[in-house]
This record gives sequence, structure tokens and C-alpha cells, in this order.
Amino acid sequence: METDAKQTGQKFDNAVVMGAGIAGLFTARIFSDFFKKVTLIDKDDLPNEALSRKGAAQGDHVHILLKQGQMILSRLFPGIDAELEKFNIPRVNWASESVWYNRFGASSPYLSQIETHSCSRILLEFIMRRFVTRIPNLQILSKTEAVGLYSINMGKTITGVQVKTSEGKEFTLESDLLVDACGRNSPLPHFLKSLGFGSPETISVESNLGYAGRLLKKPKNNPFAWKQVYVQLAPPENQRGGILIPIENDLWLVNLIGAGSDRPPVEEKAYLEFAKSLRKPDIYQAFVDF
Ligand SMILES: Cc1cc2nc3c(=O)[nH]c(=O)nc-3n(C[C@H](O)[C@H](O)[C@H](O)COP(=O)(O)OP(=O)(O)OC[C@H]3O[C@@H](n4cnc5c(N)ncnc54)[C@H](O)[C@@H]3O)c2cc1C
Repeated sequence: METDAKQTGQKFDNAVVMGAGIAGLFTARIFSDFFKKVTLIDKDDLPNEALSRKGAAQGDHVHILLKQGQMILSRLFPGIDAELEKFNIPRVNWASESVWYNRFGASSPYLSQIETHSCSRILLEFIMRRFVTRIPNLQILSKTEAVGLYSINMGKTITGVQVKTSEGKEFTLESDLLVDACGRNSPLPHFLKSLGFGSPETISVESNLGYAGRLLKKPKNNPFAWKQVYVQLAPPENQRGGILIPIENDLWLVNLIGAGSDRPPVEEKAYLEFAKSLRKPDIYQAFVDF
């Protein structure tokens, strides 16, 4: 489809994507093949480096890019692997360098073809954003919040989005196609309701899990047999788990996980105690054993 559109030159006029998280960046990248102009907006002040931001606060936690995701990323953003490697990010073999404790035991190590980059979500998003910024028919408007839908015919057809900048300037972005990639706190149901469409049905799944994270300086020579560890919860007996992955800047990113009311604490001593209480010692050892 990508080739067809490029060969025939048939393009629609313009598309607007609300939200420049991972979903918005992918969407905008793909639309740039089909629309003459793509505008990607985000209410955050999108940083020019790999930094956390309020609009995607979950970005500080462990995020795993699986193999299929990595392949799609490389196809849509040619050169992104090399760009990520400039940040000296580790590669992890999922069968020989990962330990995954499930509720029945642990998988035996073996050499597999499944190898992925391991980095923070913040870095991945920043690099994707840098690629998207270079696309000539695509513009990113940061500090620009979607505040309502725009309709030229009293709400019969949505023909754009009303936005407001952090300086208080309001204007309309007209579009042939408008996509909502604002994540779980999307204002779209509210926008639709105010135009008389009613709210779409919402399905809410309560995972009942809580996470607390830490960054650890990785030792120069990893004394452990693994590069990453996942201690999965084993309910109902054991409601605690944890995950440790290597990321850029020679760091380990750790998330301790608790289910129900048993949430991992943030205070230092209690955090270590929680790590120590996991049914496997590997993550705790990473805190204390070198
Ligand atoms: C602890 C934890 C671990 C996770 N691990 C994984 C994992 O390993 N792999 C995985 O695939 N997923 C994981 N997830 C889920 C993942 O974080 C989300 O599914 C993903 O971030 C959703 O991406 P998104 O682009 O749809 O939304 P978001 O990342 O939430 O981005 C939404 C964007 O919209 C912007 N925005 C919001 N409202 C407006 C508005 N009115 N106007 C303009 N902009 C607006 C925000 O600023 C933000 O940039 C994890 C989540 C958590 C909490």
C-alpha cells in the first residue's frame, strides 16, 4: 500500500493526530505516506532529549520492546537501530540471557534468534520523535492541547480539532482525517458528548497491580548469568513480582510489582525489604551483591 501510494502520487490532503506518544508517532509516520500534510499535536512541551514528561508519566517504568515490535519499528523508521545503538543500548537474547520465573519454574537457557534492544521507553520515544521531525510533510506542534472537535455542519461531520497552546492561543486545525492517540486519559469521549453524539461505551479492565521503580548503576562486569530477570507473580500464594532490564547509560531499570493492596513501597529500606521478599533472589542480589 505504501508503494502504491507513492507510485501513483495519490494523496489525501491533510491529517491531524492528537497525542505524540508511541501510538501517535507511529500513526503520524504512516500517514505521512498517504497525506500531503500531517500535523501531530501534543499538550506537553516535548523535550529535545530523552526526558520523562507529564503526559506519558508511565514512561519511567519498564517497557519491553518485543521482537515483532522491533521489526515493525525498523521497517517504518529505516536506520533507527543504528541510531539507538549510538546510545550504547544493550542487546538481550531472550532465551540465553533472560531468566523468566513463571509460576511453574524457569525456562532453561538456550541460544535463540530472538534478540532485542533494551532501552528506556523515554529514549525510544525520543528517537522516534527525532525521526518523525525529519519527515518533510509532517509538523509537530508541542504545547498544543486538543480542547474540542471542529465541525462545519453543526456536528454532522467532524472536520477538525480545536486546539489551545500553552500561551493561551486558540485556533482550529482542519483535517480530512483526525485520529485520537491521547492514551487512556483521552478527552475524546467528552468532546463527542458535547457535540451530542453521546459517549462511546467504555470497557475498563482493572489489573489491580502497582509498580514502583528504581535505576541502578550496572556493575562493569555483570557478575550474574543473566542480562534481564522477570519474577512473575504466582497468585494466589504469591502476589509479588519484579522485573529488571538493562538500559542505556549502563543502568538497570527495576520495577517491583504488587497485586491488590500489597503495593511495593517507595521508601528506600522498605523497597529493599520488598525486593528481598520476592520468591526468587535475583533482583534483590542486584541491589546488594556487588
Ligand atoms: C508500568 C507499565 C509498564 C508497561 N509496560 C509496557 C510494555 O512493556 N510494553 C508495552 O507495549 N506497553 C507497556 N505499557 C503500556 C504502555 O505504556 C501504553 O499502552 C502506551 O504508553 C500507550 O501509548 P499511547 O501512545 O497510546 O498513549 P500515551 O503514551 O499515554 O500518550 C498519549 C499522549 O497524548 C498526549 N495528550 C493527552 N491528552 C491530550 C490532549 N488533550 N491534547 C494533546 N495531547 C494530549 C499526552 O501528552 C501523551 O503524549 C506499560 C504501562 C505501564 C503503566
